[in-house]
Amino acid sequence: MTSHQPQASHHISAPASPAAVACPVCSIETVPHDVVDFSKNCEEARQRFLPLAGWPIYYHRCPDCGFVLAPEFRQWSDQDFQQHIYNERYAEIDPDALSKRPAANADLLRQLFGGSHKEIRHLDYGGHGALSGALAEQGWDSAAYQPVPHDPQRLADLGKFNLISAFEVFQRAPDVNQLMQNLAALMEDECMVLFSTLLTDGTVKPNTRLTWWYAAPRNGHVSLYSRQSLTLLAEQHHLQFGSFNNGLHCLFNQLPAWAARLLTPKQT
Ligand SMILES: [Zn+2]
Repeated sequence: MTSHQPQASHHISAPASPAAVACPVCSIETVPHDVVDFSKNCEEARQRFLPLAGWPIYYHRCPDCGFVLAPEFRQWSDQDFQQHIYNERYAEIDPDALSKRPAANADLLRQLFGGSHKEIRHLDYGGHGALSGALAEQGWDSAAYQPVPHDPQRLADLGKFNLISAFEVFQRAPDVNQLMQNLAALMEDECMVLFSTLLTDGTVKPNTRLTWWYAAPRNGHVSLYSRQSLTLLAEQHHLQFGSFNNGLHCLFNQLPAWAARLLTPKQT
């Protein structure tokens, strides 16, 4: 009668449960949401799959604010990121990063603010120079800054800006509070930060697997934000948060006049 009951095995042992991880935004305990292979990358949206790496990456979700993080990357050094993510093969899983995306984003900034560019001191946070170079060619005061490796002196030497762009940067931050502190330190009293990252709202939900293409450890997408988590982060750093759409957002202290025009409903 016992022949169909599973036998206790001496060959396997129960693995450890995922460790408890506090939400870096609202401090309550997150729930382990899913585990994916390290090779999961954004190009899977275009049917490009890498061989499995055999390296499980856990993503946790905050049940309160909706922030999603892969806690493992908080232990990584800058060198670890260089070796495993931003290495010589990175372009294969982010082919638009080198020129297509910077060119499109330079166009966007020109469309939004081109008429006011003489009043703008611009920093492309996380940019490697293509975007700021394209703007500088057209007479903008524009610089680029790479936040890795973290260097407080280099950050302080940059000065302050009234327009900061951070395209596809937020989801790469293993420490979101460090990111917010860095940005706040670079902001003039009247400054807008324009940034892109896709929101988890409506996509990463309880009782669903993490199939979303944007949750991609191979691309360094280690922090995924909900609207609520960005609102809370802004408040904690004495900033205001707004969204233009699901992918394009802004933070500001006081809006410069040329930016206020963008956010104020047009008079009819
Ligand atoms: Zn939270």
